[in-house]
Amino acid sequence: MHYPIIDMHCDMLSYLAVLPEANAFAKDDIACAIPWLQEGNVRMQVMAIYTDVRPESMNLATRQALIFEELHQKYSNDLALAGSDFLQNWDKQNRVGIKASVENAAGFGNETASWDEIYKQFDFILDRVRSLAYISLTHHTENRFGGGNYTKGIGLKADGKKLLDYMAGKSIPVDLSHTSDMLAEGILNHIDSNNLDIPVIASHSNFREVWNHPRNLTDEFAKEIIHRGGIIGVNFLRAFLDTEVPERLFEHILRGFELGGQKAICFGADYFYTKNFGDPARFPFYFPLAENASKYPSLLESLEDKLSATDLEGLAYRNSLEFYRKIQS
Ligand SMILES: [Zn+2]
Repeated sequence: MHYPIIDMHCDMLSYLAVLPEANAFAKDDIACAIPWLQEGNVRMQVMAIYTDVRPESMNLATRQALIFEELHQKYSNDLALAGSDFLQNWDKQNRVGIKASVENAAGFGNETASWDEIYKQFDFILDRVRSLAYISLTHHTENRFGGGNYTKGIGLKADGKKLLDYMAGKSIPVDLSHTSDMLAEGILNHIDSNNLDIPVIASHSNFREVWNHPRNLTDEFAKEIIHRGGIIGVNFLRAFLDTEVPERLFEHILRGFELGGQKAICFGADYFYTKNFGDPARFPFYFPLAENASKYPSLLESLEDKLSATDLEGLAYRNSLEFYRKIQS
């Protein structure tokens, strides 16, 4: 099984930005280290500009945008910028294409930034990284834009609407992976009632019907994404798939197909630096079957008796590739 792979989410950039000794090639440190990506035949990796909600969030995002730029310039033998040229000439690529995204709009504006500053920061980041695979308004917590996964009952705020208005027409999807249910609903309503041109995806989320967790999508939101032509990246974190049974990962993938997502399901592994994490209950973060980016081929192989070759190809890369080709054209 030698399909190329597209993965919709990893936290390489925040690892490089925060740890003084960080190295993109350190296989022991991070499961999406460049050698792991190469072993897994990853042809495109989305790298999130991740920040939590704090006063320095904008500086931290700026640093990650610069690191992203430096990464594909400095390691141009291994990495390439995955812009529209890269996608149009997909079959000719032999390097790992990288594309940035923003995980938490706190990177555009902390809680006290003016809208002049937010627009400026947005334009600066987009200019550095050239294109954004998606923007997530929140992470787990609440911010000025809306409510995150763990802030049930907090929806889309006035600043969130303003940010969506600014995103419209720029070929940048909005990501529902870190929204509260109310925020997801607010985003969809705002897009519809204002006829905004904003694709909707979930970059790294599983299904709540399979594993009940606020980080996972309800069937309603999953169907909504599928219906709108978006994509859903299945997440490999033990906490979100089933803390005991590794093979439940396959049930999440198959659930996506059952809901009509043949053209929507893709990978959103969510590899990050785990060594400085406080909560012991989270260890190990990944089951061995999905413990690093070399595992995509064997995961696809495990699904050979359950999915057709076309569906496996869709899951591996075709769905994401077609999605980005479509929104960029
Ligand atoms: Zn995340």
